Amino acid sequence: MNILILGGTTEARALAGALAERGEFAVTLSLAGRTTNPLPQPVPVRIGGFGGVDGLERYLRQERIEALIDATHPYAATISANAARAAEHAGVPLLALRRAAWTKLDGDQWVEVATIHDAVAALGNVPRRVFLAMGRKEIEPFAVAPEHVYLVRSVDPVDPPLPVPHAIYLTARGPFSEANDRALLERHRIDVVVAKNSGGDASYGKIAAARALHMPVILLKRPTLPDAEAVETVEGVLAWLDHAVTSAAARGV
Ligand code: NAP
Repeated sequence: MNILILGGTTEARALAGALAERGEFAVTLSLAGRTTNPLPQPVPVRIGGFGGVDGLERYLRQERIEALIDATHPYAATISANAARAAEHAGVPLLALRRAAWTKLDGDQWVEVATIHDAVAALGNVPRRVFLAMGRKEIEPFAVAPEHVYLVRSVDPVDPPLPVPHAIYLTARGPFSEANDRALLERHRIDVVVAKNSGGDASYGKIAAARALHMPVILLKRPTLPDAEAVETVEGVLAWLDHAVTSAAARGV
């Protein structure tokens, strides 16, 4: 069975590893090409956009893809919408691997906002020390609020930097532990965290650290994703694929 995984996440890599180990599928992992030094992957990789819905549909047909797994990040809404439409047009079964969102626990001081612009507004006008745990693409709107001090952590360098007088940049790839993120927030005397509700363990450290430090978190709500059959774990994808293989065998395909 030819499988295309739309990736760029820890789960996509773990899924590719699990499938490579089983050896019974021909797997390709697709990355957008956003990071300059992507991690090595356990299966063949293709890099770059497909050219919208039509381009992805064409790819599915040309490569005779028999199952499409959308294991992209929950905030990568465009590619997920494209995947749903292209899979439907090409008649390819689609499964989304979507990690569960974090839920608020006792002690969390979350301010949930719909957009990055709302996150900027939620900072207010009094100068604050802000931890931005997000990349170049997302942080540009903070340029309109130069009164704050920003600590920006991203996988790739932010280039060009934000046009604000006080910004510190860290490049790092997760996972990030609560202890390390707590030390980071304390060292930089941060008083508010701005983050996406990514879910999963790898980037939860800052959320747990903010709770421990009684610090507010401005949390960007998740975008709406297309209606698609979805599971939350790699094991869920493997079970779905096993079922697809058994059904195909029963039909004599
Ligand atoms: P997006 O806004 O949903 O997608 C923008 C365009 O990038 C898509 O239309 C598609 O181009 C291309 N693209 C996205 N993911 C792709 C993939 N896996 N393979 C091939 N092309 C892809 O996506 P994004 O938010 O920029 O995220 C880009 C990638 O980074 C995703 O793979 C995602 O899993 C990963 N990522 C995103 C975030 C985040 O916070 N957004 C965090 C961690 C990792 P075409 O229309 O030309 O096909």
